[in-house]
Amino acid sequence: MKEIKCTIIQDLLPLYVDDVVSEDTKELVRQHLQTCQACQKEHQQMTQTLYIPIENKVTLFEKVNKKWNRKKIILIGGSIFTTLFLCLAVFSYVFYYQKMIPYSNDLFVIKEQDDQTLFAEYFGKSHAGTHMTHPMKVEIDGEMKNISLVYYVETIANSPTRNFLREDESIGPEQFTLPDSKTVDAVYYGKFDLEKVIITKEQTWEELLQEMTLIWER
Ligand SMILES: [Zn+2]
Repeated sequence: MKEIKCTIIQDLLPLYVDDVVSEDTKELVRQHLQTCQACQKEHQQMTQTLYIPIENKVTLFEKVNKKWNRKKIILIGGSIFTTLFLCLAVFSYVFYYQKMIPYSNDLFVIKEQDDQTLFAEYFGKSHAGTHMTHPMKVEIDGEMKNISLVYYVETIANSPTRNFLREDESIGPEQFTLPDSKTVDAVYYGKFDLEKVIITKEQTWEELLQEMTLIWER
């Protein structure tokens, strides 16, 4: 037994530490270790440098993994999703949630020009956009009239590309000629959803125009 070379024992040591050797080999190594200082040192180093046996490694890893994975995926996944959702919600709210700028006499003024086109002037603060229709033939009180609808909208940030940092400044007056306005009989200001009137018929023209403000009539 004592003739076994140290090199052989040291070759066996990793397996011995991993506890994957037969009982006979184990006994052999144990006996050698008791008598050989060199191999003892080698063995000590192996066990001291956090040498985790393969089997334990696996279970430890699995344990850590199980705990981590479930909690981590739920927590991190959850918070990433929540964060993304909140960012998107805030972003949409700030840039895309549109509110109508309410009408007042000094907000939006229409004047007929000599060539019968309609000249519009907007005196309000910076806005996020205009909703405007081309003239539409609508029956009002039994009379066919050509009307245009218009309203301005604002968002918290207003236009993302301009006026971002000066949303409270007046930009006016903004001036333009209404599209195809020579034939327009009346212009209404107010929020409108033409889909409701024309396609789904949830609202009649009378109902819609009652909610709007007549701001100009020929
Ligand atoms: Zn030895």
